[in-house]
Order: sequence, then C-alpha cells, then structure tokens
Amino acid sequence: MRTELAPYAALESHSRGRRHAESGPSNRGAYQRDRDRIIHSAAFRRLEYKTQVFVNHEGDLFRTRLTHSLEVAQLARTMARSLSLHEDLCEAISLAHDLGHTPFGHAGQDALNEVTRAYGGFEHNAQSLRVVDELEDKYASFRGLNLSFETREGILKHCSLARARKLGDVGLRFIERGQPSLEAQLSNLADEIAYNNHDIDDGLRAGLLSIPQLREVPLFRRHHDVVLQTYGPLPPKQERHETLRRLMSSFVEDLTSTSERNIVAAGVQHIDEVRAQSRPLIAHGDALREETQVLKRFLHASLYKHHQVYRVMTKAQRVVRDLFGALFADIRLMPPEFAREAEALQSQEGDEGRARVVADYIAGMTDRYALDEHERLFDPRRLR
Ligand code: MG
Repeated sequence: MRTELAPYAALESHSRGRRHAESGPSNRGAYQRDRDRIIHSAAFRRLEYKTQVFVNHEGDLFRTRLTHSLEVAQLARTMARSLSLHEDLCEAISLAHDLGHTPFGHAGQDALNEVTRAYGGFEHNAQSLRVVDELEDKYASFRGLNLSFETREGILKHCSLARARKLGDVGLRFIERGQPSLEAQLSNLADEIAYNNHDIDDGLRAGLLSIPQLREVPLFRRHHDVVLQTYGPLPPKQERHETLRRLMSSFVEDLTSTSERNIVAAGVQHIDEVRAQSRPLIAHGDALREETQVLKRFLHASLYKHHQVYRVMTKAQRVVRDLFGALFADIRLMPPEFAREAEALQSQEGDEGRARVVADYIAGMTDRYALDEHERLFDPRRLR
C-alpha cells in the first residue's frame, strides 16, 4: 500500500490557507483539523435526524443524512488511498457535503427554493458552505469554522453564476470554468456511488423495489447473475448484500482505474495544473457512466417518484412552505437570535436578507423539529 502522496494531490504545503490565519496544532494536519471541526459541529449532529430518501420516523434502519455522509467518507477515503490523494481532505469534504441540507431531503430543498425564488432562491450545496463559513457560531475570533480553502472548495460542488460572483475565492472556478482539487472531484463522485447503492438497498428493504424489477437494469442484473451462479438461491438479505457489494466495487474499481489513466494522460504534476484542466480528471469510464444513467433513471421513476414516497414528500413540502410563509411574514415567531439576525440583514439587504435568515432557520431544522414547529405554529391547541 502506497503512503506517499502524489505530487498532484492537495498537499498541505500548497494549501491556500484559512480566511483567518491560525497557528497550526502540532499534532494534526490542516485537513484533519477541518474534519474534527466538522464532526464537532451542531450541523453535523443534526444530520442524524434528516431525511436521505425516507423520512426519519418511517423506520430506524434506513439511511439518514448522517449515515449517508459516513458512507461517502468511507468510499472517498478508500479511493483516495489507492490514488495517493489526501485522505483527510476527502474525509472532511465528504462529512461536510450535506451539512446544508434541509429537512425532508430533496423535497424539502425544492420547496424552500420555490418559496425563496423571489429573494435569490435556496441551494442546499451553497448552504453547506454557508453553514461552515457563517452559521456555526462557537469560535470567539471568527464566524463559522474557518476551514481551509481546499475543504471549502470541495464542499461547493456546484453553484449558479450569480451566487459564485458573491462568494469570492471559492466561487471563482465557476466563473473561470476551472476544476477543484482531485480530492474534491473524488468526494463528489463518492457521493453518487454511495447513494446509487444505498438507495437500492433501502428501496428493497422498504419493499418499494423488487429484485425482478431491478433486474431490468443491466448493471444490477450482471452482478445479480454472478451471485446466483456462485451461490444459487440465497436468503433475501444475503442476496441483496452480495449483489450490492459487487455493484459498489465495480463503481470503485472503474472510477480509480479511469481516473488513474486520466491523470497520467493529462500529465499533471501540481494541484494548480489540476485546477487549470477544462474537465475533471476523476471520472468513470464511458461505458459505466452510460449504465449508471440507466440506473439513475430507474431509481428516479421507481423509487424517488414512488407513490408512497411521493405522498410523504408532498406533505413535507407543505410543511416547509407553511413554515416559510408564517416566519417570513412575522419574524418574531422565530427564536429571538434569528429574529434579531433577520432584522439586521433586512436593514442591510432588504427582503432578500430577511428571507435568507428564515431559510437558514428552516434549513437547520431536523425532520421532526420541522414537524413539531409546524404544529406549534399552526395548531391553536398547542400552547408552546
Ligand atoms: Mg450527499
């Protein structure tokens, strides 16, 4: 096993540093320190009670944002090690990538985006950066967690041009069409590998997907055939896991070998050369990418839009819309520190600032806090 980092990895000696200079700890690297700050943040603890696909109270064994983020970090670290990239940076980015997610997963984010559209809209990914840059509030000498540029760059996976222009340093690459570090590219694809696999797993366990249905997806069928040929009939749990672990390995192997070839072909020797590329070097091969599209379309139609999921999600969207409507109309309904902040931002930026603070408050809620807050605001029989 290689332990030396590649010259094109995000070496800490090439880091663009933190927004507020800090003396380094003697016993940890910069990205280890970032990871530790993320793990000890309030936003990270909230991930445990935020929806991935299934709302938290639907069952105890489904993925939550927290277990999803841990799986992303595991995949990213494994691949980083085999590519001689910086594992700690991948771990920090992966653990932080969903910190800005609203309650109720994508349904919640879509609803929040819709109701804030007139005030600049809401992007969960940009919100993750906002959480670590602005909203975490426990250091005496700065706002946020003061993470390294490379961790912040990795958290911001995509971004509208309008938002990028306001973001300064980390927004620049969206305007100049550059790339982030290889570690950021890797963590981004680890996210996709993780959810493509665990959503199948959760969908099967929830009874919303079936193996015969999944066999219509060539990628799944191929690995399922190998399992059937190797073991014959298996109990459902083993059949599912033996298939999914092969599927996951095939993603990991394809990504590492394709990326290794891309890196050699591009001849990069320094992170600046990685950033100057017109395309990401961390990538799947064409064949697997096309097959993954088929799988994604399947998951979209059969799981994310499943009648049962859809019904829960429309309710969740109604909750988010109601919360925003009531709180934006009367900011005094929010806890005093949010009301004060909304007033302050309103005086600087008008309704856009006011909407942003209400969105911060809602995005920070766990699923059950949002449901409870909804009841407290709308049920006259609830006193507090
Ligand atoms: Mg994710």
